[in-house]
Amino acid sequence: MARNGLEVLFLSSEVDPFAKTGGLADVAGSLPIALERKGVLSRLIMPRYRGVRRYGKEEKIGQSIKVSFIENDSYFDRDGLYGEKGKDYPDNLERFAFFAKACLEFLKEKKIRVDLIHCNDWQTALVPVYLKSLYRNDPFFQGVKTVFTIHNLGYQGLFPKVEFPKTGLDWSYFHMEALEFYDKVNLLKGGLVFSDLLTTVSPTYSREIQTREFGYGLEGILSKRKNDLYGIINGIDIDLYNPEKDKTIKQNYSAETPERKGANKKDLQELCGLKVDEGVPLIGMISRLADQKGFDIFVPAVEAILKKGFQIVLLGTGDEKYETVLKGIGQKSPDRLSIHLKFDAALAQKIYAGSDFFMMPSRYEPCGLGQMISLRYGTIPIVRRTGGLADTIREGDPPAGNGFVFSDYQTKELLAATLRAQKVYQNKFAWQKLVRHAMGCDYSWDRSAQSYLELYRKVLGR
Ligand code: ADP
Repeated sequence: MARNGLEVLFLSSEVDPFAKTGGLADVAGSLPIALERKGVLSRLIMPRYRGVRRYGKEEKIGQSIKVSFIENDSYFDRDGLYGEKGKDYPDNLERFAFFAKACLEFLKEKKIRVDLIHCNDWQTALVPVYLKSLYRNDPFFQGVKTVFTIHNLGYQGLFPKVEFPKTGLDWSYFHMEALEFYDKVNLLKGGLVFSDLLTTVSPTYSREIQTREFGYGLEGILSKRKNDLYGIINGIDIDLYNPEKDKTIKQNYSAETPERKGANKKDLQELCGLKVDEGVPLIGMISRLADQKGFDIFVPAVEAILKKGFQIVLLGTGDEKYETVLKGIGQKSPDRLSIHLKFDAALAQKIYAGSDFFMMPSRYEPCGLGQMISLRYGTIPIVRRTGGLADTIREGDPPAGNGFVFSDYQTKELLAATLRAQKVYQNKFAWQKLVRHAMGCDYSWDRSAQSYLELYRKVLGR
């Protein structure tokens, strides 16, 4: 592998396989590997959570990407990453301010010189702020550039004003052009103001977040920085998500042998106590149970979808209000609807492989990985046209189309799209063509990693 001389530090509060609550972990665990293939030397730092303690002090991913863990038991030796039972930990500002500073001190102590620090989401947003404040005159960090990626603008790291001193910053940074946000501390905003370049995880979302509807109050600062803001679609790790090699599924298969997918459907139906029937269309859904993900339009559609003859398998954790509602409807039709309120990576794979359709009716979706993973498994996405879903899924005959798409955020639109999907499902020839085409869609990291590499070069002036 030819080195291109670029050294990048990735900072993320979660990295697959060490700790994961969502797509951020997938990205942090796979983008550095894709960049390594392009000659970028990268390393990662993340917190040493309770679940990470079974790993060594330092681990490796890809060929030679070092992953270091910041230790502080009083902050990180807990059951959750950011909270428990749907409630955030009250000391999250302190925890992640500590993490941000510890990362910079780690570099200094170990004399690790990098060209660029790539930060992700609010948990690491203080790093660019510190580099331009507390560490501004530190010779060790001279010339170090920062790229900040927004994975979800809905999570900003908002804290009461009284907590501001815990950042270690002077009060002069608590104003509208810095970390102040309606009299609160907004860590994400710090990242948006102080980073050299900003990215988000799809072109459509990069435009949406500059509007009032999607900007969560940060549309002003994002529009102001629009020339520094890029949308790059995430990829998926096609070695990890590979129906030909996946060891968690019943029967491996490929685009050449899609009929073998049927064994996985049978396995899933058995596992979930659904009626075993190859001909019944099965919808899978794997999702955080959050407002963002479209449950308020999906839940009212469930009964009608079941009545049309579908089966549904749902895997997710999150807001108690959705857990309660889902538990309730799950009990009503156990032979057609199977609900699993837990985080279970192996079951997720079985759902990706065993379902015919994958449901993502998101209110907003920065990128979304589920739709790309399901395409790879020949499971056809039904999605709302927003963010990364709009950039990856199109409705129509293949090769133009690879799924079913609705625009208005309404239960009846969701239902109509599901019925269009059912119609195609009933036409064996059209269905097989669609499945085969879906499996051939390329959403690997290669192209997106190239886009990041070009941005790194740009910000470094190389
Ligand atoms: P987000 O990051 O907003 O949660 P994404 O679609 O970008 O959504 O990524 C979600 C990732 O987390 C996917 O890899 C999905 O399979 C996985 N996932 C979500 N919920 C669960 C769960 N309950 N069990 C296992 N995997 C899950």
